[in-house]
Amino acid sequence: MIIIHTPKQLPSVDSLLNTPSVQELVREHGLALVTSCAQSGLMRARQSVLAGRTTNMAALVQSVLQEIERILLPSIRPVYNLTGTVLHTNLGRAALPESAIQAMVDVARGASNIEFDLETGKRGDRYKHAEALLCQLTGAEGAVVVNNNAAAVLLTLNSLARRKEVLVSRGELIEIGGGFRMPDIMARAGCKLVEVGTTNRTHEADFESAISPRTALIMKVHTSNFEIKGFTKSVLERELSRIAHRHNLTFVTDLGSGNLIDLEPYKLPYEMTVTDALESGADLVTFSGDKLLGGPQAGIIIGRRDLIEKLKRSPMTRAMRPDKVTLAALQAVLRLYTDTKCLVKELPTLRLLTRDPVVIEQLAYRLVKVLQDRLNQCEVTVAQTLSQVGSGALPIDRLQSAALKITRPDFRRPGNSLNRLAKAFRELPIPVIGRISNDALWFDLRCLEDEKDFVENLRGLKVV
Ligand SMILES: *Cc1c(COP(=O)(O)O)cnc(C)c1O
Repeated sequence: MIIIHTPKQLPSVDSLLNTPSVQELVREHGLALVTSCAQSGLMRARQSVLAGRTTNMAALVQSVLQEIERILLPSIRPVYNLTGTVLHTNLGRAALPESAIQAMVDVARGASNIEFDLETGKRGDRYKHAEALLCQLTGAEGAVVVNNNAAAVLLTLNSLARRKEVLVSRGELIEIGGGFRMPDIMARAGCKLVEVGTTNRTHEADFESAISPRTALIMKVHTSNFEIKGFTKSVLERELSRIAHRHNLTFVTDLGSGNLIDLEPYKLPYEMTVTDALESGADLVTFSGDKLLGGPQAGIIIGRRDLIEKLKRSPMTRAMRPDKVTLAALQAVLRLYTDTKCLVKELPTLRLLTRDPVVIEQLAYRLVKVLQDRLNQCEVTVAQTLSQVGSGALPIDRLQSAALKITRPDFRRPGNSLNRLAKAFRELPIPVIGRISNDALWFDLRCLEDEKDFVENLRGLKVV
């Protein structure tokens, strides 16, 4: 093997392309892609040689192959979410039910009547596909679907209160992560935010005295990801709606997560349902499609027909319209809610949130030996843990769960050995994402359902 020390010794692009193993890559991937990968491989090799390192022909071929893989490998890939957060925003939130996946595949493959009325042969209404079911399930008069709940809030404020004042309690001016801050959204919607009350206490009289001739709307924001404890007071939906309606103002509730059904029968903590919010007097309610609802990313606005019609006419709605694949999935998910008997079995979000801790623990005991065999330098144990719902839904409640906990004496010392182990799991064919806590790597097994594939995937683990 000839060692290359200087840029002069590097092969030309042509001679690299003519080596038999690169010729094989050309046959597989085409000349154009391989040429450009050979060029960038040689460029990097040149820099490396200039920096005093050496290379050789085999390493050059390898770098061409790596560059091809880097370009061709899809960058969005399935992973195992063993973080213990069921609705993990960075890991794509809700897993969809099979019926929704099938519906997405069906409309993705070809033409559909997404905006075409099959009866009249004329242009149809994109929003009507989900609207009938949403109205049926919530008792609302109308509904409109946009790309996400942040868009739903922006659209609602902009369409109903532009250049006007919007009253919000100081205790609800939240940031929910990813740059979504209520005050900023207000400003972008063209509304003037009027902060009412104090951080911990807001009274009805505070709202009454904040109303001016320029007020258009009162908004209640679900404080998704935090709780203020102690000396607190907030104004209930019912009172807010009474105040709003007495002054001819619109009352909107941003529920954030938005569950369609009462979660208490599933032994989950109480969370106001969308129907509760409507019944407490909200004119419009906004919520997410991919949080507790368990559907695709979407923002759903339901409520008074005249207001929904106004939203549909806004030019902003056109800029936020969901695509056919999303609407097909949403409709399929909503259909599951019409028969709550099968819901917990068929809707992954609810199934995972209500999974029996005993079943999770049994799974942990089956897997602990498999993992221990792969990691003979480490100690792998079954440990109790608490999962969380995630995405700001039911923020402070924790669900009893079981985890595989991996420790090693050197994890406690400074250095990167624990991070290196976590990385080795992320480099598996299907990356496995856990959580680092207390000098250990934790895999909460609540969201692991395909045990066999998981074990198979572990065979690729490069022990560190
Ligand atoms: C999550 C959330 C949003 C944003 O919803 P997305 O669907 O993520 O855009 C808005 N308001 C509240 C209260 C939320 O919890």
